[in-house]
Amino acid sequence: DREYVGFATLPNQVHRKTMKKGFTFTLLVAGESGLGKSTLINSLFLTDLYKDRKVPNAQERIDQTVNTIKHTISIEEKGIRVRLTVIDTPGFGDAVDNTESWNPIEEYIDQQFEQYFRDESGLNRSNIQDNRVHCCLYFISPFGHGLRPLDVACMKALHNKVNIVPVVAKADCLTQAEVRRKKLKIREEIDQFGINIYQFPECDSDEDDDFKIQDQILKDSAPFAVIGSNVQVERNGRKFRGRVYPWGAVEVENSDHSDFLLLRNMLVRTHMQDLKDVTGETHYENYRAQCIQNMTH
Ligand code: GDP
Ligand code: MG
Repeated sequence: DREYVGFATLPNQVHRKTMKKGFTFTLLVAGESGLGKSTLINSLFLTDLYKDRKVPNAQERIDQTVNTIKHTISIEEKGIRVRLTVIDTPGFGDAVDNTESWNPIEEYIDQQFEQYFRDESGLNRSNIQDNRVHCCLYFISPFGHGLRPLDVACMKALHNKVNIVPVVAKADCLTQAEVRRKKLKIREEIDQFGINIYQFPECDSDEDDDFKIQDQILKDSAPFAVIGSNVQVERNGRKFRGRVYPWGAVEVENSDHSDFLLLRNMLVRTHMQDLKDVTGETHYENYRAQCIQNMTH
């Protein structure tokens, strides 16, 4: 049986005109190396992005990411076509000196703005490809006490350029109480250090009650605690993406086990268009204003 990622609700988010052109979305992952970035994006989109790399006899086939890699997948569900680009980055922490290890990410984001700016100023403006980064999933270690100085510096370097959605990585390593405490601590620190993460928009007052409840659950759950896996587990005749431990199995797509589903629903079902709007109206406009200012001086 076929599983769905959930793009079929996109027409509710966008105008029909945009749908006809095809919908594009770009997601970037950032954070320390080894936190499960590659594994999570693989889990999020039910696509084995890494299937072309052959690692014989390896159960978990994801190699350490050493360069920034751009994957483009076309997903079509129930007649809705989405071209999804995922930018996988090596992550920080492998070098002796990690200061400014986010530079390649910042450059990548800037380059996309620059390209868009050039296209927009050109003659053929009707067919501009939007390769701007619409969302950055920022991975926070489950083992630290809240944010690390590198996390703070990195998010602050990027927060005026991209929508940052922080996630607590490898949530299966934490108890439920630890997850709650960690989320609280991280939320406090985000405030305290003045980090501007992506703000979920206010819920329209004409939405139905169920929508409002779901919206509140989403807002209360940030930063999302996530679990990723590249392994299909079979238990009692049921197949699922999960991680097997001596004491049992965790299921990636079980909302009792992590916020994975909340995150994916947010990205593809409910907030994809808002993430694009904020990118265009806030982050890109900042960049553009800066460019124009530099040109006139
Ligand atoms: P990246 O460097 O951030 O891209 O991390 P990878 O996706 O390469 O994963 C690094 C290691 O962590 C691999 O051995 C994964 O199997 C493991 N891993 C990935 N996601 C999770 C998770 O949610 N929980 C746990 N416990 N391990 C994970
Ligand atoms: Mg990786």
